[in-house]
Amino acid sequence: MPKIDNGPPDYRKNLPPIVEQNYGKWEYHESPRPGVLKHVGPAGALYSVRCASPRLVCVDFIRDVCALADKYCGGYLRFTSRNNIEFLVSDEQNVEPLIEECEAQGLPVGGTGASISNVVHTQGWVHCHTPATDASGITKAVMDDLFEYFKRDDLPNKLRIAMACCLNMCGAAHVSDIALVGIHRTVPRMDHDAIRKGTEIPSLVACCPTAAIRPDPKNKSVTIVEERCMYCGNCYTMSPGMHIMDAKNDGVAILIGGKVSNARTAPSFSRMVIPFLPNNPPRWPEVTEAVRHIVDLWIANARRGERLGEWVERIGWERFFSLSGIPFTDKHIDDYIFSRETFRTSAAFKY
Ligand code: SF4
Ligand code: SF4
Repeated sequence: MPKIDNGPPDYRKNLPPIVEQNYGKWEYHESPRPGVLKHVGPAGALYSVRCASPRLVCVDFIRDVCALADKYCGGYLRFTSRNNIEFLVSDEQNVEPLIEECEAQGLPVGGTGASISNVVHTQGWVHCHTPATDASGITKAVMDDLFEYFKRDDLPNKLRIAMACCLNMCGAAHVSDIALVGIHRTVPRMDHDAIRKGTEIPSLVACCPTAAIRPDPKNKSVTIVEERCMYCGNCYTMSPGMHIMDAKNDGVAILIGGKVSNARTAPSFSRMVIPFLPNNPPRWPEVTEAVRHIVDLWIANARRGERLGEWVERIGWERFFSLSGIPFTDKHIDDYIFSRETFRTSAAFKY
């Protein structure tokens, strides 16, 4: 039968021998030092050595990393969902020399246990078309500031930061300890000529989640009911005539307290605590300072084992706002028009 779809390779063909032999029989795991996980089974131990990666990498970088894997662990490595590199080492003698060579090549080892791991982020100005801010630029600025926590293992718990450059949040920012989200704040500026020439009007009308876009058959274009618009930018994906970018008014919101894990407490969505910070490239000082402030507060006040959201839930959101000095404003309150009629979960506080 002809092969019609290559698809992903069967993962069983690429398992390191030590994983294949221990498959389904693992006994326990431990963390001998920051950046190293040790999984033990009847066939022996697997040492996963975790390094940060810059996330957007070139072919030469991949070649260098593969050369390290060839030298120390039979060529076996994997990329984690947060774009860390994990070398899968089965010979304990190779762990320390690999770490030394990684550090010498500028690949910091860390990101396991009660530490900050790589920031997961979306595409930003590099590639997408609706960003309200950059993603990789803010991520670099924030991570440069918090880098010391990557190589340690003594935070209250793990810290997961995510960055999404628009409200569509394709980076799963809504379930992170700290989420940085690019926000537009103005109604799209319509270019009726571009709408007429390059747009399927019914699709444009249908794409708006709040039904703010109405057909305007007389002008072969559309109108916007401004008070219904939530500045999501969906319409710009449907029409080049719906300009959502606004250099002066676009910026960054900060949400905190989300998590995917169901350990101890149920998974939770992040909640908005800072509605707007200015876009200030190339180092976004207002954003990095705000993140550092929240992280320091959590480290100083949380109990061992508490994720950021678990700490806030224990002390109460009111206490969080007074402790942090972050002003609580009307922007924190959910006045989304449908929230009173539906049971949608919101990132803001109900009244
Ligand atoms: Fe594009 Fe929005 Fe995803 Fe950023 S978050 S890459 S703008 S869809
Ligand atoms: Fe509708 Fe979003 Fe466009 Fe506003 S920005 S008109 S809410 S699709």
